Amino acid sequence: MDHLMGIASENCLHLGGLRATVSSGFVCPSCGTRLDLEGVERWVREAEEARDESYAVVEVDEFTKIVLEERQREVYRRRKALYELRNVPRGLVPRPEMILVSYDVEGDAYECRIFYKEPRPVGGLERVNVGADLDPILELRSHPDPNVRLASGKVEEFHALRQGFVRGNEPPPLRRVFYANEL
Ligand SMILES: [Zn+2]
Repeated sequence: MDHLMGIASENCLHLGGLRATVSSGFVCPSCGTRLDLEGVERWVREAEEARDESYAVVEVDEFTKIVLEERQREVYRRRKALYELRNVPRGLVPRPEMILVSYDVEGDAYECRIFYKEPRPVGGLERVNVGADLDPILELRSHPDPNVRLASGKVEEFHALRQGFVRGNEPPPLRRVFYANEL
């Protein structure tokens, strides 16, 4: 199974686009490949090199032309993905409409769901899981996605609230919704 997965990710063109992840990189939702920004830049260069190889062909027939056009399109597609990812932390990112934080008893973790008014920002995360402990929650503060940084503050708030209940020997709440006016 792992073997098959490996082949799938090697051949995957990441056609679904790449998304920002919790560990400050990018992930392809189709094959699960993780890339940092340099990795994405390398991915763009690979397409550029493949295209340049086609340019280097001396005898140009119809087939070569088609390949060349396809490879050029692939270069554009990858560059577009790269530009969008570069803009994730800097561009004007829409704020979430609502953030739902729920406690997962089995995993002793928080699941944080970020709801956006359409359209969802490019590369914006909709779901973040984090261990129910202050250290991993604080780590989210340096996440490249500004809305994940925002959500980390809400998880921290909910975690503190739950700790208060635990100290008072009362059952802590399992979920909390934060609406736009609290974000
Ligand atoms: Zn992929």
